[in-house]
Amino acid sequence: MNDPDVLIAGAGPTGLTLGIDLARRGIPALVVERADDLFPGSRGKGMQPRTMEVFDDLGVLDAIHAAGGGYPVGMVWQNGERKGEHHMFDPAEPTEDAPYNAPWMIPQWRTQRILLERLEELGGTVVFGREVTGVTQDADGVTAHFASGEPVRARYLVAADGGRSAVRRSLGIGMTGEEVDPLPTLVADVRITGLDRDNWHIFPPEGTQELLAICPLAGTEDFQLVARFAEGAEVDLSADGVRKVVAARTHLAAEDVTQVRWASDFRPRAALADRFRTGRVLLAGDAAHVHSPAGGQGLNTSVQDAYNLGWKLGAVLGDGVGAGLLDTYEEERRPIAAQMLDLSTSVHRGETRRGGATRQLDLGYPGSSLTEETRAEPGPLRAGDRAPDGTVDGVRLFDAFRGPHWTLLALGTDGVPAMPAAVRVVHGPAHRSYGTGLFLVRPDGYVGWAGDRPAGLPEYLARFTGR
Ligand SMILES: Cc1cc2nc3c(=O)[nH]c(=O)nc-3n(C[C@H](O)[C@H](O)[C@H](O)COP(=O)(O)OP(=O)(O)OC[C@H]3O[C@@H](n4cnc5c(N)ncnc54)[C@H](O)[C@@H]3O)c2cc1C
Repeated sequence: MNDPDVLIAGAGPTGLTLGIDLARRGIPALVVERADDLFPGSRGKGMQPRTMEVFDDLGVLDAIHAAGGGYPVGMVWQNGERKGEHHMFDPAEPTEDAPYNAPWMIPQWRTQRILLERLEELGGTVVFGREVTGVTQDADGVTAHFASGEPVRARYLVAADGGRSAVRRSLGIGMTGEEVDPLPTLVADVRITGLDRDNWHIFPPEGTQELLAICPLAGTEDFQLVARFAEGAEVDLSADGVRKVVAARTHLAAEDVTQVRWASDFRPRAALADRFRTGRVLLAGDAAHVHSPAGGQGLNTSVQDAYNLGWKLGAVLGDGVGAGLLDTYEEERRPIAAQMLDLSTSVHRGETRRGGATRQLDLGYPGSSLTEETRAEPGPLRAGDRAPDGTVDGVRLFDAFRGPHWTLLALGTDGVPAMPAAVRVVHGPAHRSYGTGLFLVRPDGYVGWAGDRPAGLPEYLARFTGR
């Protein structure tokens, strides 16, 4: 545990993603995790298309594809009979711009295993059994204190320690929000006989709100069971408790549940941290925002927090860029987290369908202080927008973007400026999604700068490369 540049508290999806992004940038980082192993449950199983694009860039997409699968159609049951299909998602097909444009399912435990393997492949480390209990900081660094063992000093600490974040509490950062649903909910991973794996089985209650849904988990033999209970009910997390729920609310018998592999309960709440940064400590993922699981936004937003922060920490620590760049993390991510909380709450309450907004492809940073649109009349795409996929002069754009670098797209213009070696340049004709002009794509896949001519582009780039 030599003093790393970045100490990451928590080996959930957020901490592991950030660990990968820093490792591929050569920034010395260490992930510390309270538990003795990775989280074992299926919890956040819905991957949004934008997260799949992030995973493509981080080099784990093939593994995520191989280990998961598409979402099954819902099937409503009543008195042991199938009553009809229920379509949970608005249909979406892959396009050239958005090649992963369909919901993808993979249990959270499996996503985390894949992320850990990638982190280790890149030379990164997770130290398990290390619980952060508090942090202290000064002008030069931050010190993490643990339940046992020596403190660790780092230049920055990222709190990726989940909704109950000890780091956030130790800094006295408040969470502002509301209860989304007073009803307690049980979530469990079970093996079950008597249900097919072609449908997401839904058992609507009669006269109560005690909904039960049992979804086959792609790539496994398990099902994810989610059961709501009446207000004030005690949720029994034992295997017998889970079996009783199945026997009481379906046509199946208790013995049809052959294994209960993991069980937990929660009460949906939506809350946002009042700040995402205090000095040398940054909050990311559930440590910064907690939400209803409805609409599958939490893990996805968390991964993208890490992805926004990774290249900024890389620029500050690796390229000597001023630490002010880190302020743009909260500036860019907090409004998106607030938007995601509203969306999750609204899906939870049945006010919004799981449609385009949940896919997270239209999110961007148009109003960010890092965004420069220099054209009086922008084309189909503006600075701040997500940089879509496509092919330019035989080059697939997501292939060109893959890696920790910036990319300049010079489309339908001959005025291609000289760029530092670290910037990849793709030159070709005007493109349907982009139009004509120069587009400087950030390492996290958003257009940072757009213009008709190069004036101002080298100065813009120098802000981030320290050169
Ligand atoms: C039933 C359910 C279904 C969900 N479905 C979806 C979905 O379909 N799609 C989606 O996007 N999201 C979903 N979510 C949300 C998703 O699970 C979370 O948003 C996601 O896990 C957040 O990741 P994280 O890394 O920020 O936090 P966590 O996953 O909570 O990870 C935090 C890690 O930090 C560790 N830790 C905690 N305290 C300390 C400490 N003091 N020191 C060191 N380590 C510590 C923990 O052990 C843990 O490993 C769902 C959630 C639930 C409950």
